[in-house]
Amino acid sequence: MAEFDLIGLIRERAATRADVLLGIGDDAALLQPPPGHALVVTADTLNEGVHFPAGTAAADIGWKALAVNLSDLAAMGAKPAWCTLSLSLPRADVAWVGAFVDGFLDLAGRHGIALVGGDTTRGPLSIGVTAMGLVEQGAALRRDRARVGDDIWVTGTPGEAAGALVLGGHVPGPAPAGEVASSARAALDSRLARPTPRVEAGRALLGLAHACVDISDGLLADLGHVCARSGVGAEVRLDALPASAALREVFGDASRVLQATGGDDYELCFTAPANLCEQVQLALEQVGVDASRIGRIVAGQGVRALDAQGQPPRAGYEHFG
Ligand code: ADP
Ligand code: MG
Repeated sequence: MAEFDLIGLIRERAATRADVLLGIGDDAALLQPPPGHALVVTADTLNEGVHFPAGTAAADIGWKALAVNLSDLAAMGAKPAWCTLSLSLPRADVAWVGAFVDGFLDLAGRHGIALVGGDTTRGPLSIGVTAMGLVEQGAALRRDRARVGDDIWVTGTPGEAAGALVLGGHVPGPAPAGEVASSARAALDSRLARPTPRVEAGRALLGLAHACVDISDGLLADLGHVCARSGVGAEVRLDALPASAALREVFGDASRVLQATGGDDYELCFTAPANLCEQVQLALEQVGVDASRIGRIVAGQGVRALDAQGQPPRAGYEHFG
């Protein structure tokens, strides 16, 4: 394939930053982390047919390939700094790569992350991104720091991406409550195609949150990872889960199972001491992110979902206990 033309196209458009001593074009990049910081590294791959349906717009794939990695940096409380991009492409399609790079660099520019290298090969469509961030030494948000008595919080309104996957017939799920308005459908679809990584929220939570995880597999499942790593249990009040207007419009009461178990929204779930409740709310308000208190860390293990009466719900959530 005309691999070098594609690399040239990417190189021409990628922005750089002062701590990139050497970027795209050599055998490897040279990066200069500042003193007093830990380097935070994460990698995620998107495969066609597995992580996005065939025919997804190239610009949306570009956005999402970076977004899922920025979400992992956000969950650690890291500032995005540098990334690499490994592209496996069935053919050297300049128009496709141009559109892909539009989406990728749009999001990169918003977070000041520099693309510093990668790899371009022929093969089934697959996109691997490694993102590197920086966090003040000792300050990172980790999964293994939740403590009994902590409040459990979630940012945004999880469940919308799962709603879009259900409407698209990509995963099984509840049936819509009635006719689906195109505006509501579009709202859900855009959350699936272009998730918003909560980078500023992760930064705002440094020194406030005890533990943090980003929601890629579903709220209860990802909270379960925090509990397992921290050696604690969790109680989540399903009636306290923040509901998106579009999700409720489309799925009615069945929204709840999507909010609790749907993945792909890339919101943050975190725990914080109960006495810091107002400070948490204020810190997130300052970066324009809504967050809701949805439960409590308890002694024991596993995640228990509770209904408005404090009872286990009738069905659908048991496997997280
Ligand atoms: P090498 O064979 O030494 O690995 P390549 O020809 O693969 O070199 O890459 C040349 C340069 O282009 C390297 O700096 C590499 O990091 C960069 N590069 C290759 N593919 C990409 C890509 N998809 N995105 C960004 N940089 C890339
Ligand atoms: Mg190479």
